[in-house]
Amino acid sequence: MERLPEYLILDHRVDRLSHQDLYRLQSERLRAMVAYCYHQIPFWRRKFDAAGLTPADIRGMDDLHRIPFCTKDELQEDQAQHPPFGSYVGIPRSLWAHYAATSGTTGRPLRRVLSARDWQYMIDRFRRNPTLGPGDIAVILGPVDALIGPMVSSETVAAMGAMVVQAGLYDSITKLRLISDLRPASVSGTASYLMYLAEVAKDNGIDLPGIGIRVLSAFGEPGIALEETRNRLRQAWGVNRIADGYGVTEIFPLGGNCAHSTSLHIASDLVGTEIVDPETGESLAPGEIGEVVITNLVGESQPLLRYRTRDISRLAVEAACTCGFTGSRLEGSIIGRVDDMIWLRGVNVFPSAIEAVVRKLPGLSPEYQIVINGENGLASLTIRAESSAENPSATELSALQERLGREIREAIRVSATIELVSPGSLPRPDGRSKLRRVVDRRR
Ligand SMILES: [Zn+2]
Repeated sequence: MERLPEYLILDHRVDRLSHQDLYRLQSERLRAMVAYCYHQIPFWRRKFDAAGLTPADIRGMDDLHRIPFCTKDELQEDQAQHPPFGSYVGIPRSLWAHYAATSGTTGRPLRRVLSARDWQYMIDRFRRNPTLGPGDIAVILGPVDALIGPMVSSETVAAMGAMVVQAGLYDSITKLRLISDLRPASVSGTASYLMYLAEVAKDNGIDLPGIGIRVLSAFGEPGIALEETRNRLRQAWGVNRIADGYGVTEIFPLGGNCAHSTSLHIASDLVGTEIVDPETGESLAPGEIGEVVITNLVGESQPLLRYRTRDISRLAVEAACTCGFTGSRLEGSIIGRVDDMIWLRGVNVFPSAIEAVVRKLPGLSPEYQIVINGENGLASLTIRAESSAENPSATELSALQERLGREIREAIRVSATIELVSPGSLPRPDGRSKLRRVVDRRR
């Protein structure tokens, strides 16, 4: 049986390597990974053979683009044919140590198995930037079971000497009482739940800003990329720092923002990061928006090469962040999913860009609907939004309509018809199923 070399992960210098040194380190790890995948893992052997590739063809990161993509559909099919973990497992049963799974929002959940070594690598990676220490408490609001991000962050908090409180089972009021009694240094949950909890606190006379929480960690929702959402959370919870994290269950928890920037700092000694055109698969330059593609450089359990995450972002243009980090950074966080993207007359429109305009314009409720009519080549866009004023005059309404139209055009470079509807008439999220705000009527 082949095993990958052992690497030193708990070393903060890795985040500050020069471009050249990082390229060398990534290339060396990629070569070892490709050889391991080819000789140890049937799934990858089949893919390489089908593409007419051998490990010798991949000499470094510049050759990464020659490796065929890997998709979630492919992994789901493979796990169905080869239960429980698929034919892309590199370790024998005797090394299985941790179990995780995707949360299963689309289709059958994907299962993950991890060796003790891979597990420790993830914890060591997060310990490079210790945010908590002895005497600190971290409250995790959501469920933890089988979710790779919360599981690893729980163990990381403990490894830093702080105390972790898993509060996923409790109702909102119990969670709030726990928070005001324990006075934690950090609280983590999804952005929309943190927003909701702040409302419950207000209604129940709980003074959240008075608690002295330092960091609010908001994971797993593109909404946190919006400055408006961050500001609302900062005010409601009285915190300075909003930590945004990014992870892909099929790979690893990959990284997060720093105190100086909203870009996601990706652990570039663990993975290679590319941005590709979601339609053609062509590599895109830093600054260009496209699909995030991740390659495991370490990880012996279920390594993936060129995995298409369906997440949309762009790579930072500058070589390093103000904090000194020189690895890959996803600028402006994750702005949406490929599946939510609208292709309109040759332009990509992101619903999140429209959402950002609607949410920041005074006089509108947070709800909106995007309606697309016509045929592909001649499609037209209608944005339906609600005025939030009680009895707006016709002049006020037409000024609001005009301003929304102008700001949408500036934000997405496409003109839209604006329909203002009365307050409360658009569908609202019910907290159970995902609200579809895009109505595509194209043939
Ligand atoms: Zn930084």
